[in-house]
Amino acid sequence: TPSLDVAAIRADFPILSRQVHGRPLVYLDNAATSQTPRQVIAAFDAYYGGYNANIHRGLHTLADEATAAFEDTREAVRGFLNATDHREIVFTRGTTEAINLVANSWGRANLRAGDEVLISRLEHHSNIVPWQLLAAELGFTIKVIPVDARGVLDLDAYRALFTERTRLVAVNHVSNAFGTVNPVREMARVAHAHGARILVDGAQAVPHQAVDVRDIDADFYAFSGHKVYGPTGVGVLYGKAELLEAMPPWQGGGEMIATVSFEAGTTFAEIPHKFEAGTPAIAEVIALGEALRWVAGVGLDAIGAWEARLLAHSTQRVSGIEGLRILGTAPDKAGVLSFVVEGAHAQDIGLLIDQLGVAIRTGHHCAQPLLAQFGVDATCRASFAAYNTLEEIDVFAESLERVIGMVR
Ligand code: PMP
Repeated sequence: TPSLDVAAIRADFPILSRQVHGRPLVYLDNAATSQTPRQVIAAFDAYYGGYNANIHRGLHTLADEATAAFEDTREAVRGFLNATDHREIVFTRGTTEAINLVANSWGRANLRAGDEVLISRLEHHSNIVPWQLLAAELGFTIKVIPVDARGVLDLDAYRALFTERTRLVAVNHVSNAFGTVNPVREMARVAHAHGARILVDGAQAVPHQAVDVRDIDADFYAFSGHKVYGPTGVGVLYGKAELLEAMPPWQGGGEMIATVSFEAGTTFAEIPHKFEAGTPAIAEVIALGEALRWVAGVGLDAIGAWEARLLAHSTQRVSGIEGLRILGTAPDKAGVLSFVVEGAHAQDIGLLIDQLGVAIRTGHHCAQPLLAQFGVDATCRASFAAYNTLEEIDVFAESLERVIGMVR
C-alpha cells in the first residue's frame, strides 16, 4: 500500500506552523478550502517578480513566457483528468463558474420547455441554483435523484426517473456535506443509454482520488483550484471536444474572438479560447499547475489511503460521544465527517472549538435540500487533507468532548 511521509508534507505548508488562540492550528476545514504548499505560493512570486504579462497576444519575451506557463498548466490539467485533448480544458473562476458556463451555453442551446434535468439531492447549491435560474426562463423541469438514510443515491430511483425528455444529469462525484462518493461512471452509462448528457461536479473528488474523465465518460467535469492545494480564483471545466465545439460562447470579449466587425459580425476563436473571454487569472492558473505537480509528486493513491485512515480514526473517536449522530454513513466516503450533537448547536461547537485551535466548518454547507431531508439546518463538518495527522484527530476529538461538556 502507498504511504505518506506526513512530516515532510507538513513542512511544505507554512500556515500549518501558526497558532490560533495560543494553540497549534488543527485545520480540519479542507472541504471548504485546502491549504497551499510553498511551491504554489512561490509560483506567484516567480510570476509577478519575473514574467508578469498578458498572455496570447504579446510578441515580447515576457508575454511569451507567461503564455507558455499558462498553456503548460492546461496540459497539466489534461493529464490530471486524463482528458484526450488540451482543447477540452477551459479555465474558469471555479466550479461555480464552470457549472454556470455549461448552464448558460450548453443549457440554452439544448434545453426547452418540457425537457427534464436530473439533479441529485446531494448537490451543492452551485449545481442546483444555475439550473433553477435557467428552468425559470426556459420552462424545463428539474427532477431530484433521491438519497437514502445513509446519504447514498438511490440508483433504482435514478434509473426510473428517465423519460424520453431527459436531457441532462447534474451530479457531484463526492458530496461536500456528507462525503458520499457517487458511482458517476455507472450513472454516466445510464444517462448515455437514454441519450442524456452528464455533468459531474468534481470539486470534492479531485483532492482525494485520481479522476479519469474518459473512464467515467463524463460529458462535463468541473473542479476548483482552491480545494486541491491550489489558489482561489481559478477552476476548470472539462468538456468533450465535440460538445464544446458545438456550444455557443457564453461571455463575450477579448481573447475569445477570431475577428470582430460591425459590418460582417464577429467570428469566434477555437475551443477552449472561445470560452475564455477577457484576461484570465494568469498567476492563479500557473500556480494551479504547481499544485497539480505537488499532488502528483505525493500521489493521489497515497493521499486517498491516508485520508481513509484519518476518516476511520475520527469516526471511531467521535462514535463514543453521547448524543452525537454522524450524518452520511455511506460505505464509500471521502474526506468528510459530518455530525450533529444532541443539545449542542453546531454554531456553538464551531465557535468554541476554534478557541482551542481547531478549525471545522458548521452550517448548511451549501446543501440545504440535503440537510432538510435529515431534519437539520446545520451540521459540524471535519474534513481532511494529506497533511492532517492522527494526533490532530485526537486533539479534535478531545476538544470536541470538552466543548460539548461546556455547552450542555
Ligand atoms: N461543488 C462542491 C461539491 C463544492 O464542495 C463546492 C465548494 N464548497 C462547490 C461546488 C463550489 O466551488 P467554488 O465555490 O470553488 O466555485
